Amino acid sequence: MEIRRVGVIGAGQMGTGIAHVFALAGYDVALHDVSLPALEKAVQTVAGNMERQVARSRLKAEDREAALGRISIEPELAPIGGADLVIEAATEREDLKHKIFAGLVPHLAPHTILTSNTSSISITRLASGTDRPERFMGFHFMNPVPVMQLVELIRGIATDEPTYRTLVEVVKTIGKTASSAEDFPAFIVNRILVPMINEAVYTLYEGVGTVASIDLALRLGANHPMGPLELADFIGLDTCLAIMNVLHEGLADTKYRPCPLLVKYVEAGWLGRKTKRGFYDYRGEQPVPTR
Ligand code: NAD
Repeated sequence: MEIRRVGVIGAGQMGTGIAHVFALAGYDVALHDVSLPALEKAVQTVAGNMERQVARSRLKAEDREAALGRISIEPELAPIGGADLVIEAATEREDLKHKIFAGLVPHLAPHTILTSNTSSISITRLASGTDRPERFMGFHFMNPVPVMQLVELIRGIATDEPTYRTLVEVVKTIGKTASSAEDFPAFIVNRILVPMINEAVYTLYEGVGTVASIDLALRLGANHPMGPLELADFIGLDTCLAIMNVLHEGLADTKYRPCPLLVKYVEAGWLGRKTKRGFYDYRGEQPVPTR
């Protein structure tokens, strides 16, 4: 099936990046959010990020202009239904996502493929609330979308083969690489990465190492580009905790118990880089470990 028009729902961090890569790849992109300021900020962010690509000679100025011209903002949900492919990237709340799909269904073209960028919610459950579980998939981008190479493709129980094959082709056209995962909590990347971060927090909690020694150990001892606590601050400690809770509840295994120290940091509102404090304090010139 040919995909030309893409509807993106949610113009936050992820929706903005998704609009960026699809517009650059030549798709017409309609971006919807309930917040008009979010839509305006998204367009500014895409323009600014593409400008940086031009400054670094990674993009021609005329290609930037053409790509920006392919992005339209859509304050109403209904027009998104006319897209060939819809990518839902709104806030990570299951009730909210169900509501969005329910609102969209009456406006969908018969052929439209629906996808969600959820990090943890069951694709099968989201699909079952729509009129087309066979044309519904998980389409999980990594943050920041324009930079990260991987996309996880998640088939629900009912997803059909043509839908899966269409998305595999779409991923190629945006210059990314797909890895397929089954529909189990947190899929592949977060199933492995976030428990490793949680273990690093336990290592800190039990006094085995300091923030600095744990990050140094993994950077130089395992050749990771970032230490696990530095990475946790980058992802957001609230997000890490939410993913651990999904694993703990979804797989009912105590090995996924969120570390009490991670819970404490989230209770304190120390969520990492976005709040300027987490395992490091980012308020000065250099990040300073908080433990
Ligand atoms: P965000 O908070 O930056 O953006 C969410 C956006 O959704 C906001 O602009 C909000 O106004 C909008 N929104 C809320 N309710 C809406 C509605 N009813 N209709 C339309 N828009 C609505 O969040 P984000 O980090 O961009 O995450 C979005 C999705 O992407 C989540 O499902 C998240 O799990 C997933 N995800 C996030 C990351 C990450 O690292 N941040 C990585 C992969 C996947």
